[in-house]
Amino acid sequence: MKKKCIIFFFTLFGIISLTQAQNTSATTAHDLAMSWLSGTLIDLTYAFDDSTVYWPTEEGFVLEKGSEGYTDKGYYYTANGFRAAEHGGTHLDAPIHFAEGRQAVDAIPLQNLIGSGVVVDVREKAAQNADYQVSVADLQQWEAEHGEIPDSTIVLLRTGYGQYWPDRLQYMGTDERGAEAVAKLHFPGLHPEAARWLIENRAVKAVGLDTPSIDYGQSTLFETHQTLFKENIPAFENVAHLDQLPAQGFIVVALPMKIRGGSGAPLRMIAIIPEE
Ligand SMILES: [Zn+2]
Repeated sequence: MKKKCIIFFFTLFGIISLTQAQNTSATTAHDLAMSWLSGTLIDLTYAFDDSTVYWPTEEGFVLEKGSEGYTDKGYYYTANGFRAAEHGGTHLDAPIHFAEGRQAVDAIPLQNLIGSGVVVDVREKAAQNADYQVSVADLQQWEAEHGEIPDSTIVLLRTGYGQYWPDRLQYMGTDERGAEAVAKLHFPGLHPEAARWLIENRAVKAVGLDTPSIDYGQSTLFETHQTLFKENIPAFENVAHLDQLPAQGFIVVALPMKIRGGSGAPLRMIAIIPEE
């Protein structure tokens, strides 16, 4: 009888502590969500429509209009299809895009797509030179002002070219289409040496910027892509609204459409600036 009683109390105690643990984690999750949402949410994504900028060789985003209107049963119904290249608009470049055997879109760990971010502002230099490449000196300059880029950071480069979106001529140097237009691309990117410096000296999760490609427009070998992707560091391209972010002190959430085996994918990317 005594033994049964002990078992009973232990069971009761177990149930109570389990319930308390569940309540505690529910409360913690609620508090965490409320604290995130009491901050400022910034949409770093451009809407996808027929003006969305794609590489000159790509068709662009096509919304295939489907049903729209009241059915004969009396309810409203609308549904469309769409067609698009992986790389265009605000999107993710998966490591496999330029590195054989590296992660495709669906294989990138979620941990690499969510993290604290920093913004390296190179607007002044990029305004003088459409072929500007963000240098090691630019990264070191940021660190001199703000401290070392912490491990697991998402590094965003603000070239100022976002202000030209979606004017293709200003944003990417040409509004021509087709393979011949590629040689006429002019926009800033990340210098391959700076990509190497990040890999050798820092432990970043991902790199993003407000231009169509992480390599500058005149690149022919896409060395920055190759360098980052070999290390399974993905890139975010055509990132919107970097002008609304501080130099640091925000969280980035960059979730791509989970295309199995994809080399890239449309992205819904946001930033959260927690309340002070
Ligand atoms: Zn891309």
